[in-house]
Amino acid sequence: MFTRILEYNVFNGTLKELMNYIEKFNKVNIISGNPEVLYNGLNNPLLFNNFTGDNSIIIPDGVGTVMASKVVKNPVKEKIAGIELMEEIVKKCEREGKSIYLIGAKQEILDACIEKLQSKYTKLNISGSHNGYFDLNNCSDLIDDIKAKKPYALFIAMGSPRQDVFIIKNMKELPCKIFMGVGGSFDVFAGKVKRAPNWMIKLGLEWLYRVAKEPFRVKRLGSIPKFLLEVIKHKSK
Ligand code: UDP
Repeated sequence: MFTRILEYNVFNGTLKELMNYIEKFNKVNIISGNPEVLYNGLNNPLLFNNFTGDNSIIIPDGVGTVMASKVVKNPVKEKIAGIELMEEIVKKCEREGKSIYLIGAKQEILDACIEKLQSKYTKLNISGSHNGYFDLNNCSDLIDDIKAKKPYALFIAMGSPRQDVFIIKNMKELPCKIFMGVGGSFDVFAGKVKRAPNWMIKLGLEWLYRVAKEPFRVKRLGSIPKFLLEVIKHKSK
């Protein structure tokens, strides 16, 4: 069910298997394990403990993580993109009458994201939301609102590590089942940022598309070779 990459257990089943696996947890934190996130975790004990905790599942989000699974000779069945998993959870919530709560992005993006989700999934219950620009150490109103609404799934789109820090600080006291950091996904649902065309996703070139659209991302690509190098070094020890 898992591929060991460095000290991380990365889920190696299909998206469908993952949806069933999540059911087993009382509370679960789903981590979109792209190389940048996993590489940052190696140098940050707070993140590392969270990524390797009993209530966390790392999904292979990104072609670099898929490559790493090949390096350790236990390839994952498929790449699981965080945004696709989020949409599966949203569909399940609509089907089963469970509510979701959204935190993150700028207010107008959040509003557009809610509008788009609501028009695509008409029976979906979005019980609450908050933009992603607030003080993580001073947000008791937000925490109280989530406690009152008791959403089944909490999606947090504030980029890493900010979204992870929010989850680490609050997961214990919040009554949600699914906690998931979803990076720039609200921007995609809102229609502000487009995902790569399918043929590029299939070829594992989504990262190239994102850099072409948002050139500032080129700096962040450096963690792909750094992460792979760590995996290769660790393997040859
Ligand atoms: N963001 C936020 N609060 C912050 C910083 C960023 O809500 O303090 C939001 C930002 O508006 C954007 C998302 O986090 O919607 C950034 O996602 P990014 O594209 O960096 O994440 P990735 O998908 O690369 O993990």
